[in-house]
Amino acid sequence: MDLHEYQAKERFRAAGIPVPPGEVATTPNQAEKLAASMGGKVVVKAQVHSGGRGKAGGVKLASTAAEAKTHASAILGMDIKGLTVHQVLITPAEDIDTEAYVGVLIDRATQAPTFIVSAAGGIDIEQVAAETPNKIRKLAVDPRYGLLPHQAYWLADFLYDDPELIEQATKIIAQLYDSFVSSGASMAEINPLITTRGGEVKAIDAKMSIDDSELFRRPDVAALRDSSSEPPAETRAREANLSYVKLDGDVGCCVNGAGLAMATMDLVKYHGGDPANFLDIGGSSNPDKVVAALEIITSDPNVKSILFNIFGGITRCDDVANGIVEATSRIDIKQPIVIRLTGTNEEVALEILKEAGFAAYTSMDAVVEEAVKLAKAAGA
Ligand code: GDP
Ligand code: MN
Repeated sequence: MDLHEYQAKERFRAAGIPVPPGEVATTPNQAEKLAASMGGKVVVKAQVHSGGRGKAGGVKLASTAAEAKTHASAILGMDIKGLTVHQVLITPAEDIDTEAYVGVLIDRATQAPTFIVSAAGGIDIEQVAAETPNKIRKLAVDPRYGLLPHQAYWLADFLYDDPELIEQATKIIAQLYDSFVSSGASMAEINPLITTRGGEVKAIDAKMSIDDSELFRRPDVAALRDSSSEPPAETRAREANLSYVKLDGDVGCCVNGAGLAMATMDLVKYHGGDPANFLDIGGSSNPDKVVAALEIITSDPNVKSILFNIFGGITRCDDVANGIVEATSRIDIKQPIVIRLTGTNEEVALEILKEAGFAAYTSMDAVVEEAVKLAKAAGA
């Protein structure tokens, strides 16, 4: 689960990190009032779960409250990478001297919380990482001991020459680690970590993603979820307990098990098609889940054919077949559906499906080829 900048900033503040004040506005008038109360010189910042807001025009400096209002009218309602902006953060403009990058994330390679820092922070950090990796320092933290003081210092020392700045950054890096751990985060990032001309180090942007598996024991963090700013299909999937990731293709995939779902997507590509999504319906044959899965898949206008790929282990194929028949009788689906079932009770399942008029298969290759063919025919 992603947090908005203003939410991540609140958590950073609670950990002691120096973060300029800020308030959220949902209308241009509100933005103007807040800007006036901050003296007029503010930054108006889109609150969306997407990087690169600055480049997309979602971060604008204003020198007066009236200008802040104009910026807020332009930014509110703006579309940034498919997400609509409903809120803007109004925060006093800082006089920036330098911009650094400080982030910590769970890294698969080191299997540990891993810091990444660079003195070349700001909006082009991805480019820095790709083109000049020597400008980046990394450190894997042993979670048994946490981030040790000398490690925080070693990271901060890579950012600045001035001992006073290093001292401030050392503290901020340690506080960032505390905030990361206590929030159950998988990623926490300050970009940019600025120095002001007055010699202060501050976090003026904040990003945090929470590990979904940590939410059940952190109701205060779970309460920060903003469903209005995630794609509706993802909200629906979460509520129905399905793992869903939208992709750009046209073959809707409905599979039980994450591994089989990945293999199915690979096979769709192998046969010249393009998967529209990853969707794991889990071990359940509950028709409600199948209905939810089909509603989610068909809510994507790109989907041209629907492919079920079910392996019946503990799940019984006949249960799933009944679930599919019931689900498709409850909702009207225009796209052709092809189904492959194999495993426990597959003969019964195939019988049920054939009787209901479905194209049923046991071969994975055959069903994927058919799904790709149908999608191509519908797209032509
Ligand atoms: P992002 O593009 O979504 O990462 O948004 P940021 O909050 O990181 O802002 C992008 C850039 O806008 C920063 O790297 C700064 O260069 C600039 N910026 C943001 N806030 C301020 C500010 O208070 N004062 C000044 N002068 N520039 C700012
Ligand atoms: Mn940023």
